Amino acid sequence: MMSLSVRSFAPWITLALVLSSCSTVGQAPVRRPASGAGTLQKFRVNEHLVRTQWQQFRNWSGIPSSVGDAELQSTLLKTLVQTYAKADELVVELDRLFESGVTVEHLVRTRPGERNLYAEFMSLRALKENIEEGIKLRSEVQFNEALDSESTRVVALDQLESQARKLMEEHPEQEVLIDLALEEVREHARSLKTGYLEGRFPEEVSSRFDVSRIRKVRRQIQSHPGESVRAFAPQDGEAGIHVDRFIKKVQSQTAGELSALFAKSDRLPATEGIKIEPSTTSAGNITGAGFPKGVWALTYDDGPARTTGAVLDNLKKHDIKATFFMLSQQIDSSKKFPEVAAREMKEGHDVASHSYSHPQVPKLAASQRAREIGGAVKVFEQVLGKRPDFFRLPYGAGVSVPSIRTDIAQACMVHAFWNVDTLDWHDKDPELIYQRSVKQVESLGRGIILFHDIHSQSVVASEMLMRYLKEKGVRMVTLSEVVKEINGGKSWSCTPVK
Ligand SMILES: [Zn+2]
Repeated sequence: MMSLSVRSFAPWITLALVLSSCSTVGQAPVRRPASGAGTLQKFRVNEHLVRTQWQQFRNWSGIPSSVGDAELQSTLLKTLVQTYAKADELVVELDRLFESGVTVEHLVRTRPGERNLYAEFMSLRALKENIEEGIKLRSEVQFNEALDSESTRVVALDQLESQARKLMEEHPEQEVLIDLALEEVREHARSLKTGYLEGRFPEEVSSRFDVSRIRKVRRQIQSHPGESVRAFAPQDGEAGIHVDRFIKKVQSQTAGELSALFAKSDRLPATEGIKIEPSTTSAGNITGAGFPKGVWALTYDDGPARTTGAVLDNLKKHDIKATFFMLSQQIDSSKKFPEVAAREMKEGHDVASHSYSHPQVPKLAASQRAREIGGAVKVFEQVLGKRPDFFRLPYGAGVSVPSIRTDIAQACMVHAFWNVDTLDWHDKDPELIYQRSVKQVESLGRGIILFHDIHSQSVVASEMLMRYLKEKGVRMVTLSEVVKEINGGKSWSCTPVK
């Protein structure tokens, strides 16, 4: 039986144990792309490269080489479904806790032997991402084959995408909306790939192939000229993005009745010396709990990405400065988003480091860790011409490991945790994310809010929260600003250890 319990979250050990009982399945031969593929040529993946990466994934995961590709793929998919189901369960529990006034600050302070729900949730997310990476690689391995057998649909999607681009040129003011529609098209492209791989192709997938999104965007633009409509109507019971409705709701909810919750600009008095600085002690880790009352920092992780521009537009519109915890792999190639990072800096936001490639740092060997912390900082210097002052560990994993904290402090950075988790990667519905955030914001009255600028739902939910916070009249700050203030106007100086 190839079922995998996700009850214990020792991801690959568990997976490897399950798989070690699998029977041997032969490896499929490398398929050469058909000659004269013409227009499809530009879609082809580099078969040698993806096969090498797939092999690295297999090696890294500890899965026996006797387990065939097809069987591994099927187990990955089953495990992913279980992981989502388990995450759903945990989110229900977390939402119940947030509802009763428990916050991330409480959740991270568990005693030995006590269940750490939040850490479980974080490991679950890491497991999910690892599995998704594996599935993606597997689909890449088979992509060229799928491309040949589904060439008609692929060409249709390509045409749809160019229509959307044309629409974008005609209506640049509707960039966000059209971009979201484009994402829908890409989602269809992904469905084609994964549908093929899951063996439910072509019937089930083709019924989901639907050009109505682009048409709907066109109609919305025509019926709302000059207005920035960012809503899709929900389709067939799936969660849509109902921004206008949500904004109306926010406005009615926040008509003054909650304003007493937040005191205005309650600055801490200037104090002697430095209180927050790179250090392995609590001075080197901020969570938002020590912020002046009513002071909030919006933080965005894992970018920059395609969606980051929309976040920056929203921040500009609401005149808010935020802090972006970037992955260096997202800026160290011109094919990625270095210009978006430059825009973040130019518009007055803080740029901070979130590692090079988002691993679970405690699981890394020393040399890999150096690349993820010190190496990530070097990319900042090369691409942006400045060092980051703050670092955030992926999944918050390793924040209480002394050697990891030493690495961060020696690179002259303060670690930044958060005390409001929007869990925005989990939900597609911005309203859920928004409501969960507001609950925690109300309980805490100050702090650091965690979003991810790589999801469309986060773009929408965080704008809803921006409106809410502005209406409350709270003070929005970057981490540099608030830390300087807490330190009595001083910044730390430090020389990075090589
Ligand atoms: Zn992250």
